[in-house]
Amino acid sequence: MGIAESLLINEQRYGYPLCPCRLSGGSREADLDIICPCDYRDPDLADYGRCYCALYVSPTVTEEQLDGPIPERRPSKEKRQAPKKENVENDIVIWRCKVCGYLCARPQPPEVCPICGASKDRFERFNPK
Ligand code: SF4
Repeated sequence: MGIAESLLINEQRYGYPLCPCRLSGGSREADLDIICPCDYRDPDLADYGRCYCALYVSPTVTEEQLDGPIPERRPSKEKRQAPKKENVENDIVIWRCKVCGYLCARPQPPEVCPICGASKDRFERFNPK
């Protein structure tokens, strides 16, 4: 509840729900990747079963696994400001939920389908012909 309350406070303070576990860069543009849910939530859920703040937690995570921090995945300010590699789009795959047909374009399928709740293993790569 503390994290959720902090998100509401940040929304009033900044005008958007800035991650309560990170510092603002001073503008919405600088903070885009850490507006909740942040860009790092899904890979952290996949690797650690929780997001950086532990607001989002995988159902398979135990109480003990919630103790202590996880590594910060967000790149340093210098790396975030560096020019993007031209082939970054190559990491993006179209995933299709085999249960409801939901499509998303991202490096990995979501842990849970946001439409029907099917688990990650119910997704397949989608190759339109
Ligand atoms: S998903 Fe978790 S780590 Fe990311 S902004 Fe929200 S509370 Fe913070």
